[in-house]
Amino acid sequence: MINPNNKQTVYRVAVPSPLRRLFDYLSPVAQNEVSDSKILRAGTRVLVPFGHRKIVGIIVMIDNTSDLPLSRLKPIASIIDNEPLIPQYLFRLYVWAANYYQHPVGDALFHSFPALLRKGEDLPIQTIKHWRITEQGQNFSLEQLSRAPRQKEILALFHLEEVISQNDLRRRKISFPALKQLAEKDLIALTDVSEKVSTVHGKNYLLAEQPLDLYLEQKAALNSIDATSFNPYLLFGETGSGKTEVYLQAIEKVVRCGKQALVLIPEINLTPQTFDRFKQRFNCRIAVLHSGLTDREKGLAWDAARTGKASVVLGTRSAIFTPLKSPGLLIVDEEHDSSYKQQEGYRYSARDLAVIRAQKESIPLILGSATPSLESLYNCEKNRYTKLVLSRRPGKASAPCWIPVDIRKSKLTNGYSRELIEAITQALSEGDQVLIFLNRRGFAPTLTCHECGWISNCSSCEARLTVHRTPNRLVCHHCERMSPIPSKCPFCHSSQLECIGQGTERSEDILKALFPNTLILRVDRDTTRRKLAMKEVLAQINKGNPCILIGTQMLAKGHHFPNVTLVGILDADGGLFSPDFRAPERMGQLITQVAGRSGRGEKSGIVILQSLYCDHPFISSLISNDYEGFSEEIRKERKLARLPPCLLYTSPSPRDRYMAIIRSEATNNAAAVDFLKYYRQCAESLPPKNTEVNYLGPLPATMERRNDRFRHILSIYCADRGELQGLIKRLCLKVENSSLARRVRWSVDVDPQDVS
Ligand code: ADP
Ligand code: ZN
Ligand code: ZN
Repeated sequence: MINPNNKQTVYRVAVPSPLRRLFDYLSPVAQNEVSDSKILRAGTRVLVPFGHRKIVGIIVMIDNTSDLPLSRLKPIASIIDNEPLIPQYLFRLYVWAANYYQHPVGDALFHSFPALLRKGEDLPIQTIKHWRITEQGQNFSLEQLSRAPRQKEILALFHLEEVISQNDLRRRKISFPALKQLAEKDLIALTDVSEKVSTVHGKNYLLAEQPLDLYLEQKAALNSIDATSFNPYLLFGETGSGKTEVYLQAIEKVVRCGKQALVLIPEINLTPQTFDRFKQRFNCRIAVLHSGLTDREKGLAWDAARTGKASVVLGTRSAIFTPLKSPGLLIVDEEHDSSYKQQEGYRYSARDLAVIRAQKESIPLILGSATPSLESLYNCEKNRYTKLVLSRRPGKASAPCWIPVDIRKSKLTNGYSRELIEAITQALSEGDQVLIFLNRRGFAPTLTCHECGWISNCSSCEARLTVHRTPNRLVCHHCERMSPIPSKCPFCHSSQLECIGQGTERSEDILKALFPNTLILRVDRDTTRRKLAMKEVLAQINKGNPCILIGTQMLAKGHHFPNVTLVGILDADGGLFSPDFRAPERMGQLITQVAGRSGRGEKSGIVILQSLYCDHPFISSLISNDYEGFSEEIRKERKLARLPPCLLYTSPSPRDRYMAIIRSEATNNAAAVDFLKYYRQCAESLPPKNTEVNYLGPLPATMERRNDRFRHILSIYCADRGELQGLIKRLCLKVENSSLARRVRWSVDVDPQDVS
């Protein structure tokens, strides 16, 4: 550590800015700012002069030289934190991730901290309401309350315990009116007590309910998890096979050792059930972190994790940055979910960072999924991860039975085959629930003119406007532009306009016409916009009455619908045969996940899948419940196209390759292309010494124009991660100030998920 009192000390500070650099500052002028108790270390927040303002910065490095003459450096204005709020290794991981994902370090670091801290504020303090006996209360004889037995009982309790938390009183089913009456007599009083750290949990205290008896495979999986060091596991079990139960019991083990578990889940608002299950199981504090919270709530949860007050931390993507006091276990549920990769701005992958983080913390990592990503299956094959398989459902629940319907042979009525309609009728008559999956919201994907063939295209995107009926309008799903539905063709003025294709709204209407006496619930982004909408729908379903659920991929995520016995997949083909190389994988995952909603209760389930290509290997492996077979089929295709995860070089010997994409978009098409041409040119003039680099592009993106901008991409492949990282870093520094860069919006995407 450099002596902070040395005048020559230079602090390299990250500030929230799109520039890929740090800014140098000297020690604060006020000597008392840097006393022995305030040794400035990396990760400390400071206030620094920046232009005409003072802004929050984070010290990243401490040095004694600068590229600028020291006389030109300004001193740090003041120090915000007496010591860094997170451990050094985690801060280094933040910095590493910023570099790995090639994101401007200041912006990335600020993204990694909760909003309150970004604004330079302190962490909020959680206080818990307690009741305490007053002096008067202590001297008060219980006999005087003989005519108020409830009050007497409560005061007797306070004679024994003095201070009791409000939650505790609630748990003990204390009468609150009686409590209030005691308070009015000044015998007890309300006080705020700052929360204590609960450390060791008594055996009886930790669990709020009895864990389930694990079946053999679950037991084997749980016992395989070595909690003493870094070990990544892929827990591969179909939906409903009991993965969550394995998580809960693995968490129980680490919490009993006084450690904490961090659990990442894809989307908390859509899956309130997951949180409820954790709460039902454990008495210990569970901190929850997701985007629906206020800054204060996030700050509290973050601090509860950091100080160890919460033994379990449950959160979405960005929760991967949450510090833990005593890390014991990391879990990424539904590890294949694309929401773990941020698609805008700081494009990190929380799942991949989880691997690095668990390694640094020397703790086990469980990646769980019914439909693992090709990457994770590949890592198992390479013995980087240990695969733990749950191959059945516990109890009576069994894997669903698939019925493919070849829609070349079966005539569709507005998207529904005869077979599907019959099956729905049958299921409803038996009192069961039905789930219909169609991954397209709105009424119809296209409006067209019957006379002249005009099509409702978006004027800003290379895409069609979707017809919506509630409310009535045309909407572009890419740029959100809206317009009224024309009553006449804008081109030939014919009134013969026709909606082509089905969206969830239309399919809902058709179901309503076919089953007028049945409750039909639609779940998509349009119906769940309100905060509690999803909870309300889930409550309706949980009543268990016969109903039909129709919806998009929102229905695929982690829900447990015990009364659903039939799942209908209206259109399997859209995603399976798409130009985006990851689309088939995603669609296969969705179909498998949706199918998994069927038959999770006592009764067995049926899945009806409508497709034009029932004989295609993709479809036939899916319908034999063979997700692994399906993923092998997909991998064969990827291998041929040299796409991840097996971007193999064949010579001299097969090696993995890594991939990054440079995106550029501009209102001027040529500007977008020229920037990428320049980027590639620079890359080719700065090749890494030891490894070959390959380029593809610039090529137009799958949707070449979106929101009035032309979009192009350049793909870069390299067999050495470090070399690729170094190359891109050099390039970004070189091009960021070029005049070509200023004419476009450009970004780097390392290990891209979406390459369209
Ligand atoms: P997954 O997370 O794989 O989808 P869950 O853990 O949610 O599966 O389990 C599905 C259902 O099976 C839940 O209702 C759960 O309570 C039940 N379950 C899980 N494990 C067992 C077990 N060992 N014995 C009985 N029921 C179990
Ligand atoms: Zn027309
Ligand atoms: Zn548009």
